[in-house]
Amino acid sequence: MGNKLCDLKDVRFVLYDLLNVEELCKSERFSDHSRETFEMTINTAEKLAVNDFAPANEPGDVIGCKWENGTVRVPSVYHEPYRKLVEGGWFCAQEKYEVGGQNVPHVVDYVCKILFFAANHNLAGYYGLTHSAAKVIEVFGSEDQKRKYMLPLYEGRFGGTMCLTEAQAGSDVGAVRSKAVKNQDGTYSIIGSKIFITGGETDLNENIIHVVLARIEGDPEGTKGLSCFIVPKIRVNDDGTLGENNDVVCPGIEHKMGMRGSSTSVLAFGDNENCRGELLGGERKGIVTMFNMMNEQRLLVGMQGIAQGSTAYLHALDFARERKQGVAAGKKEVAQDPIVVHADVRANLLWMKCYTEGIRALVLYAVFCMDRIHTAADENEKQKWNDIIEVLTPVCKAYGSDKGFEVCIKAVQVLGGYGYCSEYHVEQFARDCKITSIYEGTNGIQSLDLVNRKISMKNGRAYRTVLSQIKESIVEALEWNELIPYASDLKSYLGMLEEITEKVLNMKTAGVVELVESWASLYLEIWGDILLGWLFLWEARVARERLEESKTEHKPNGEAPDYFNEAFFTGKIITAKYYLGTLLPPVTGKLETIRKSDHAFLDMQESFFFD
Ligand SMILES: Cc1cc2nc3c(=O)[nH]c(=O)nc-3n(C[C@H](O)[C@H](O)[C@H](O)COP(=O)(O)OP(=O)(O)OC[C@H]3O[C@@H](n4cnc5c(N)ncnc54)[C@H](O)[C@@H]3O)c2cc1C
Repeated sequence: MGNKLCDLKDVRFVLYDLLNVEELCKSERFSDHSRETFEMTINTAEKLAVNDFAPANEPGDVIGCKWENGTVRVPSVYHEPYRKLVEGGWFCAQEKYEVGGQNVPHVVDYVCKILFFAANHNLAGYYGLTHSAAKVIEVFGSEDQKRKYMLPLYEGRFGGTMCLTEAQAGSDVGAVRSKAVKNQDGTYSIIGSKIFITGGETDLNENIIHVVLARIEGDPEGTKGLSCFIVPKIRVNDDGTLGENNDVVCPGIEHKMGMRGSSTSVLAFGDNENCRGELLGGERKGIVTMFNMMNEQRLLVGMQGIAQGSTAYLHALDFARERKQGVAAGKKEVAQDPIVVHADVRANLLWMKCYTEGIRALVLYAVFCMDRIHTAADENEKQKWNDIIEVLTPVCKAYGSDKGFEVCIKAVQVLGGYGYCSEYHVEQFARDCKITSIYEGTNGIQSLDLVNRKISMKNGRAYRTVLSQIKESIVEALEWNELIPYASDLKSYLGMLEEITEKVLNMKTAGVVELVESWASLYLEIWGDILLGWLFLWEARVARERLEESKTEHKPNGEAPDYFNEAFFTGKIITAKYYLGTLLPPVTGKLETIRKSDHAFLDMQESFFFD
């Protein structure tokens, strides 16, 4: 067994066999790269994750963050791995050389992120947000703003945050009350209070750059009136040196179920009327600007969910091989066997393996589409990849985080009483993982995004683009006898998904919005189930092809080719079949539920809950 964070054999199969990421290196953007540089990047990340991030995970949870007189100390064990993260240039590895990056494809960078987040979700969270803050400034900022803020963020010298939430404005972002008043010098005075801000105050960086949603005085209510501002904790002079404090104060931090090493801060802006912000992305363009950050974060959060699931699964697997209880079915001796011999335990492990590998492949596919935008031949192709990302983002975020959490809970179950206690860490993975279904827009909000926006985008063209990718894989799989029954079933589920999607679109136009929204989460789950079916069918076909190729392709010395690993490819086909034949079929019940559209929900008045 390799590291206990992420099965890199499976990841390499997705990268090189399924997605063929080496093709990217033919494009100008990635021409300096090759499989060797990808491998070097992943191996370096693995070392940092295993040797530095993971050992700080449990102590960080126990020590937690400490607030004192407006400053926050993160667990001291985080400082050294964070320093190495900065030194290694990990904050912008996937960015262009011009901004200090290394032009690493997103999909390879994401593998590194999976390792970091699996090793230490709390610590990695600080760097994830810092990248997003830098990116939004790169996309919308002036040259001055890029120099003063983006570059130090990409270097990891400054930390970055994303400040939307206020006490009365959680999911309802339009209710933000933070105010901005224009000054004569073109800056804005910011007054307001934010809550739940990740990394809002820490001792990790010399400065923190807050990206803040606020309303310019006199602008309309709701999301349309919001603007985005760069608000540094310490002002940055034109020559890049640090100036005076910018009247951003942290009056406290939250005490939480998990993520105890992550500073979840309350922030007060301008209590002394001396907090200055710079407009980012134009007046009343705050939501469009912030969405740049949010979309990146949503994919990242889906990945976070399954990164925790991945490490929980590997811990459970390790435990199941060591822990002895009972004897294998049909065995005469009394000597105890490891619990992995019991069918129920193995079924749990296989369930965890399926969702971990399936969702990881889904997230990597979505991120690969981002790389394909850079290599696209023309505008049409760019649009295609962009449409796919739009549809997949809420599914990756919600399905990835929900299932990731379920995988962690299953791990607790496989470990029994030991799982419930802290010694084996899986209870921490579950506690830390739960946040992924809540922040970055709750999963309920993600499902509304899918039914209300994404499937109707471009008159349904975006979602049909995704379906056509799935249809192509079905046709390819039908060429293999062994896969025909699975491909045929997937085809029929896909037909039903198309049917209910058209129904949902028609119902929305007919105005039955409440009923549609009552199923939105179920509808998103169906998408997740079927997308995993697609990826497993694709994986099974590729694994089968590899096995067949190995019969005819040999090295000059007669040995099997380097890529050949019979046990892995065979295991992959069996895992895929298990998902397609055992875990996926209940999707018909979910599809049928929406097809039937029972109206009981509409008859259930609110008062009936309370009478
Ligand atoms: C540890 C942690 C870190 C965080 N980090 C950040 C951060 O860095 N920056 C930041 O800005 N925020 C951050 N948040 C805030 C987070 O994004 C919000 O908690 C989240 O958006 C939900 O808002 P809320 O908690 O106010 O819940 P509410 O909006 O009150 O929602 C409560 C429930 O009602 C549902 N609901 C609400 N409105 C609707 C609707 N219109 N339709 C259907 N269902 C609805 C929700 O799905 C949810 O189940 C963080 C939160 C936590 C706990």
